[in-house]
Amino acid sequence: MNGILPSESHQARRGIQECDFCLKSRTEVGRLFACSGCKLAMYCSPACQKAGWGFHKLVCKSIKQERSQFKEMDQLFLSWGGNLAQAINPSAVLPSVIMDEFCAFAEKFKLPLMEAGYNGLRIASDPSFSEHAVLFVMLDRHPVRAHSSRAWARPRVLYAKPMTYDELREKYGRANVQELVVRLGGLREIQSRAPDYVASVNIMLSSLCHVLSPPVPLHYPVPLDISPAYMRAVSLGDTWAQKLKDIVEKISGRQVNTRNGHI
Ligand SMILES: [Zn+2]
Ligand SMILES: [Zn+2]
Repeated sequence: MNGILPSESHQARRGIQECDFCLKSRTEVGRLFACSGCKLAMYCSPACQKAGWGFHKLVCKSIKQERSQFKEMDQLFLSWGGNLAQAINPSAVLPSVIMDEFCAFAEKFKLPLMEAGYNGLRIASDPSFSEHAVLFVMLDRHPVRAHSSRAWARPRVLYAKPMTYDELREKYGRANVQELVVRLGGLREIQSRAPDYVASVNIMLSSLCHVLSPPVPLHYPVPLDISPAYMRAVSLGDTWAQKLKDIVEKISGRQVNTRNGHI
């Protein structure tokens, strides 16, 4: 079992999270800890982490695998750049850094992403739709926060839209997305075994890596399971995509800072 990290060491975690096992909010329990394996699951106590481990371990393993693949990609991209004589952009961000930003972003904005996914994937009105679709969230680095020490504050949301697996295959090529699709299906199956399972929302964070030319799209699946408590609290509406963008900009301090001139 993985250890736990004090959440205070990460400025990223404030306010809106809940324990993945008992669903108590941070305000109720005072502080939450992140699973040191995936840095995504949050717990209020070692007891909750232990109790949730049987269910979480497979999801956790999958996230860790994803992360090590991005590290391998760094090496691969750099060697391609040399071999193919493609100009490597020296200021470009390597895949593993983008991965860190994906992770931090997914964790920081878990609840806003869940709400967008809940709406965008029609969980309430058409539950079977989400079995073959993801909420595709395209990110890029905001120029104002591109070098923030807080990795979650660097990206902004360019757009968010539901995409079916078929649409993903069409856009990125079958070979490129097939592994992700299989993994998302496997994660959904694991999630559905949880006793209080209601629904899954699969988010796909995406960003372009500019190390090579043309830039290479990188994807990061974020499997979220909807808790019964969350289901009662979620707000439904058509403006979810704009709301997601606005929350990210607001929490990342861009609107406020831009207005005040403290960039
Ligand atoms: Zn708990
Ligand atoms: Zn974990």
